[in-house]
Amino acid sequence: MPKLTGRLVVASHNAGKVREIAALLGPLGLEAVSAGELNLPEPDETADTFEGNAELKALAATLSGLPSLADDSGLEVHALGGAPGIYSARWGGPEKDFGFAMRRVHDELTALGTQNMRARFVCVLALASPDGEVQTFRGEVDGRIVWPPRGEKGFGYDPIFEPEGHSRTFGEMSHDEKLPLTHRARAFEKFIASLK
Ligand code: IMP
Repeated sequence: MPKLTGRLVVASHNAGKVREIAALLGPLGLEAVSAGELNLPEPDETADTFEGNAELKALAATLSGLPSLADDSGLEVHALGGAPGIYSARWGGPEKDFGFAMRRVHDELTALGTQNMRARFVCVLALASPDGEVQTFRGEVDGRIVWPPRGEKGFGYDPIFEPEGHSRTFGEMSHDEKLPLTHRARAFEKFIASLK
């Protein structure tokens, strides 16, 4: 992978995600441009792994002629065989209703009658160069599913996920407290280390 300089496309149409990634890239002297700003197409997530979907998104954004960075993330619940996994966003339905998705996790665990509440969040970053070369970086955070949901902060499955070594859910933590503990921060650490 050639050394990164100048502009990098963040292969996401989600403004919140682009802002978060731009803030991490700024100190590295890299300017983030969003795929939305460049009117780049958003590919369907047709792969069956986080790596595959992150690669699809990153490669699609290299149409711009710039290197690009994409991420794919989700929640894996051990007793559910890793579900919702790559389908984490889709479990929220078209309305992105994560109250509904969290209840589905709880209902499926209850139906199994299991005591195993182990879960993890996974984030994979893919860095693609315009010549089609791709590198991926995986970050994970282990924890457990709690019920009922706790906390109003964060997003997605945060209120039912208690990270290992903590007695509060991600939904009960402030943004600044949650950020360094996350799967996303861990994937970024690996990405940044690869640039040095
Ligand atoms: P995508 O990576 O944008 O395709 O979507 C990942 C989905 O996983 C999100 O819609 C969330 O539901 C869930 N997810 C990923 N990271 C987190 C997190 O840090 N907290 C809560 N939910 C998350």
